[in-house]
Amino acid sequence: MDGPGLAATLPDDQRRRRPARLPSVSEPELARHFGRLARRTHNLQQGIYPLGSCTMKYNPAVNEEMAQLEGFAGCHPYQPEATIQGALELMWTLERWLGTITGMDAFSLQPAAGAHGEWTGLRMIQAWHAASGDLTRTEVVIPDSAHGTNPASAAQCGLAVVTVRSGADGTVDLEDLVRRLSPRTAAVMLTNPNTLGIFEREIATVARLAHAAGALLYYDGANLNALVGMARPGDMGFDIVHLNLHKTFSTPHGGGGPGAGPVGVRARLEPFLPTPRIEREGGGYRLDEDRPRSIGKVRSFYGNFGMLVRAYCYIRAYGDGIAQVAQDAVLTSRYLRHRLAPALGTALASDSFHEFVATTTRSTAPRLRALDLAKRMIDFGIYPPTVYFPTTVPEALMFEPTETESRAALDDLAEVVTAILDEAAADPERLHMAPEQAPVGRVDEVSAARHPEVRWWPADR
Ligand SMILES: *Cc1c(COP(=O)(O)O)cnc(C)c1O
Repeated sequence: MDGPGLAATLPDDQRRRRPARLPSVSEPELARHFGRLARRTHNLQQGIYPLGSCTMKYNPAVNEEMAQLEGFAGCHPYQPEATIQGALELMWTLERWLGTITGMDAFSLQPAAGAHGEWTGLRMIQAWHAASGDLTRTEVVIPDSAHGTNPASAAQCGLAVVTVRSGADGTVDLEDLVRRLSPRTAAVMLTNPNTLGIFEREIATVARLAHAAGALLYYDGANLNALVGMARPGDMGFDIVHLNLHKTFSTPHGGGGPGAGPVGVRARLEPFLPTPRIEREGGGYRLDEDRPRSIGKVRSFYGNFGMLVRAYCYIRAYGDGIAQVAQDAVLTSRYLRHRLAPALGTALASDSFHEFVATTTRSTAPRLRALDLAKRMIDFGIYPPTVYFPTTVPEALMFEPTETESRAALDDLAEVVTAILDEAAADPERLHMAPEQAPVGRVDEVSAARHPEVRWWPADR
């Protein structure tokens, strides 16, 4: 709020002459406005959200309640350590649980998203090579099916991207990997199961080859929902991982709030973790800023603390039973895949885990595109799957139902897809017009991307 003190510090020509023209409405009007917006926007309270790669699972309400506790929500980052011992204990404990789940020795909770975790991990990899006096490692080997943030994070760190091909079964082509590795390789970056939902069975060989070439192995943990409690990236040979708390550990994401992308490392990389670290000492906790080899701070204060509380509650609620998340996530995905197989067919024969990629190219409906099918699903109250990703599959539709969907919801989705395909065969033009029921029809995506208009103006401007 600008009191007289603050206004006085502004140069005269930069002060408002008239009050800002902000809309002024009563509380009921405002409540209805947001109610209307909420109904116009698909969310998990309305229906299934099978957006592949994004793990849009239901976020339990108890997480929200715990994050709102005054002692957590009212914490201020400048409070003295002695007054935030509970918050520090929660973070310290969460770091250890994430270590147990992933097989890593130490974690930092600072990064604010998966992509931010990737960037943090790659900065540590650069620091590690520099500390060994090895300044020639300027490349990151990334599969052609990788999520776009992987090459983007490498580029942000000034590293060159070297693409490794996927074989016919969708996993990394080992012969191509051997060709791509060199004394310039800083890291190999993988997710497992990969973005096609397929488990990299040769992961131990990949790790051996990467390490023999002097590189480190980075785990993009966005797909941990397939493995949590069942298998650990540390045991597969990975050196660094990031997790997306807003995917696997049920904290809100997308329009729902900020994310969190903790990074975990093997012991030999611990000195490079962001500062400060939370240390347990005597019966209490303190923040250690004295870390000469750290890559430094990657975010203000301690990360998105509210997300950490939610993830803590989620893990605590499952306890040792957390493997059921992965088991049910894989079961629902395989069930849906088999339900859709007669209509759509899947992109690959290999057995998928928590997500799978279908394609419209084998459909008998003439000129049916993935985009048409996806847009028509909106008319049936179903959020569309991810489309045109991974880019290695033409007309891709990537489904990830998650473990929080019932068999009835999966059957309903399969029936909707079948009905749309029948409709496409009978009346091919209709699909190009979809969605018909949504507040906004088929948008011109090129104009929306090139000339976005995101400002609000009063009607009588
Ligand atoms: C979501 C995702 C990311 C990026 O995570 P953000 O939290 O959105 O930054 C990276 N890799 C894969 C495979 C993903 O699905």
